Amino acid sequence: MPEIYLIDVTNRDGVQTAKLGLSKLEKTMINIYLNDMGVFQSEFGFPTTRHEINYLKANLELVEMGVLKHIRLGGWIRAIIEDVETTFQLIPDIKHLNLSISTSDQMINGKFQGRRKRHDIIKDMTEAVDAARAHGAESIGVNAEDASRTDINYLLEFGLAAREHGADRLRYCDTLGYDNPFTIYDNGRILAEKVALPIELHCHNDLGMAVANSISGAMGVIDGGQDAYINTTINGIGERAGNADLIAVILAATKSKETATRYPLGGSIKLKLASKIAKFAEYAFKVDIPINQPGVGANAFAHSSGIHADGVLKDPENYELYSYEELGRGDPIKVETGREIIAGQYSGTAGFGHVMGKLEVSFKNREEANEILELVRYANVESQKPLVEEELKFIARYPEIAKKLLTLTPLT
Ligand SMILES: [Zn+2]
Repeated sequence: MPEIYLIDVTNRDGVQTAKLGLSKLEKTMINIYLNDMGVFQSEFGFPTTRHEINYLKANLELVEMGVLKHIRLGGWIRAIIEDVETTFQLIPDIKHLNLSISTSDQMINGKFQGRRKRHDIIKDMTEAVDAARAHGAESIGVNAEDASRTDINYLLEFGLAAREHGADRLRYCDTLGYDNPFTIYDNGRILAEKVALPIELHCHNDLGMAVANSISGAMGVIDGGQDAYINTTINGIGERAGNADLIAVILAATKSKETATRYPLGGSIKLKLASKIAKFAEYAFKVDIPINQPGVGANAFAHSSGIHADGVLKDPENYELYSYEELGRGDPIKVETGREIIAGQYSGTAGFGHVMGKLEVSFKNREEANEILELVRYANVESQKPLVEEELKFIARYPEIAKKLLTLTPLT
């Protein structure tokens, strides 16, 4: 039976959001959290962007080292041969790629201004797929940008050409959030039936339907006989009004009426880590989780009116579809209200020793402590905010990887 899998694109669509960004260490922590949660793939960055090179290579090393055990790391590039060549020149060990190109007449005419026609788009894409395969890519997803505004017959032609050239998945991008749950169900189903490839649903939230569209599109794909891959971002962070929120998608797939039995979520997703990953993204992006965010918002389990409070106290199921414990909530958070020593870019050994001692991290000798402190200083320079405990522990545990993440050398 086909299933739903998750491809999180926080480290690609999330970070390309206007006014927002993440340090390379923060992106790495997100890959680790996604791995721990059981997410199928992280779209971990941009292989043709020079400042990503050290980060991408370091994360591929974490895969080799077994730190990132189950998750796949996929790069995002344009579906043109030049991008494929540059990718394998810069990141020879990359295994998974998504190749993206616009398919709607609006974008073909509006972006390429008459320089490319429909058949050129298919030619560019198939050449890129061939090149990626020739370079040894293990999995190739082909992205149809603006698929929801693309003539369905052309989209089918595009998808079939992708399959013929050995693509593993087709990404249906509702780039502008134009679909509704009914239209995306139909398109998902037609693509699954006729192209006969697993289909990715990439939904934006411009009309407030990103999560509903993702689930409905996935239902169409599964009814069409193929696996569905929903693209998510943590806290729904993404271009303009954002993408489908990771936690809301998991909740919708597992808790909504009659969904889980007919459209099962594949792999083993650890919802217990939901609160942790959402809080980290909130801190790293410096964007508050909305108070009413499903599952992880401050009010997601808050009750005040008489009838609701009385009802939920008698039996939580009266007014809660799922329990806060399932999302890893309920533990008290320790907030320092007295003296605080923080490790930052100008920290010295005494303060740093104190901070790491509290985390029960010890060092072999003074040299090692100094080396880790130096890395922590650089990480703080990059992120411009105090590192969280798990970032400090990561640096102490994998200093060589941290060194690579923190090395940004502009071309001369
Ligand atoms: Zn997008």
